[in-house]
Amino acid sequence: MKPIVCKFGGSSLADGTNILKVCDILKSNPQRKYVVVSAPGKRFSGDIKVTDLLYQCFREATEKGDCSETFSKIRKRFTSIVEELGMNGFDIASILDETEKQIDEQRSADFTASRGEYLNARIIAAKLGWTFIDAKDIIFFKENGTLDEARSYPEIDRRLKECAGAVIPGFYGTDSEGKIRTFSRGGSDISGSIVARAVNAELYENWTDVSGFLACDPRIVNSPEKIEVISFKELRELSYMGANVLHADSIFPVRKGDIPIKIKNTFRPEDAGTLILPSKKYVLQGNIVTGIAGKKDFTVIFLEKSMMNGEIGFARRVLSVLEKHKICFEHMPSGIDTLSLVIESRYLSGGLLDVLLEEIKEAVHPDYIRVLENIALVATVGHGMASSIGTSAKLFRALSDAEINVRLIDQGSSELNIIVGIDNDDYEKCVRAIYHAFFSKKSEEK
Ligand code: ASP
Repeated sequence: MKPIVCKFGGSSLADGTNILKVCDILKSNPQRKYVVVSAPGKRFSGDIKVTDLLYQCFREATEKGDCSETFSKIRKRFTSIVEELGMNGFDIASILDETEKQIDEQRSADFTASRGEYLNARIIAAKLGWTFIDAKDIIFFKENGTLDEARSYPEIDRRLKECAGAVIPGFYGTDSEGKIRTFSRGGSDISGSIVARAVNAELYENWTDVSGFLACDPRIVNSPEKIEVISFKELRELSYMGANVLHADSIFPVRKGDIPIKIKNTFRPEDAGTLILPSKKYVLQGNIVTGIAGKKDFTVIFLEKSMMNGEIGFARRVLSVLEKHKICFEHMPSGIDTLSLVIESRYLSGGLLDVLLEEIKEAVHPDYIRVLENIALVATVGHGMASSIGTSAKLFRALSDAEINVRLIDQGSSELNIIVGIDNDDYEKCVRAIYHAFFSKKSEEK
């Protein structure tokens, strides 16, 4: 039987009571053999995550040469977790002493931040009676900072095969110089995905404090429908546009291995959650739209030049200006004589927009150049859209009924999504209008 790899994070591991729930979940299914854990998250709103306290320790150690006050808060958190778990014989005090000493010696932000996962994994492994496997010994980065797959996957598989059950700290590994290196924030999701891929898991279960993905942001539409099944491609579109239950990079390792992900809720384990399927295993679900997501604050640079279509190298010259300034663009809708660039406004601050405009003018001599600011993008995503007639008519009718002025339209060539650009101020209205056009009316407006 292939194993299931689990990852627990956020408030699932915030205190001893929650960790006991996690242990019950793990023990209730013998396929759940390997678990990746995050650092303790927030216990209540306004609480500070252990990882944030650790970053604060690092800053204090570098600036003031001492972080003992903040470290004492971390000490308290882990000591009370051990007490709540009734692990009287577990010598957390010595492990914490050693950790504090190492933080002081190493003076590394990544090393310091990684200790939340390290300490939590040591405690949980002891509670479960499973083997603790340090991520530093199995997850390796290349010199350019990407995962060293050739080295990591066989080593993970070899080490885990020897264990009946193993707990691995998420969020970090070892760089090419042998030092601890972390992923970006929320990166334990990536560690879980790497482990699942390495052992060729049947499933990667990602346990959080929500029962999966919702069809749109619940801060905009009251109790939107849950997404039961979604493909990796749809998820990529939605999470890129702001639906963030899972770290956006975490889908790549499992996706390559055709391993499904299931999002589950630690506090409501009976809920079905959301199943994320690779293309090979995905079948159309019968719905036209799977989800709607979006982001505010984009800038559109609009260029017009007659006979643009016949001018060889036009787009390349425009794009090389962006490349020179290391700016990514999100979309590039074009017509015969027009081309627009959609760029996140945060990349253009500090006068860079004016510099770009000047350099673009010089590079391609457009007849006309115009800038639209404060634009929001809303993506409507679903495999069902490609085979269903009238989808875009329905979408644009909903926008016109809501009196929303559409500034830009981009339909990805896969017909997986339709993206509209609208004024920032129309963002919430737009999401609601699209949601109500494609989903049942049972959710109330906020
Ligand atoms: N603890 C890390 C963070 O807060 C990583 C994670 O939780 O996945 O970003």
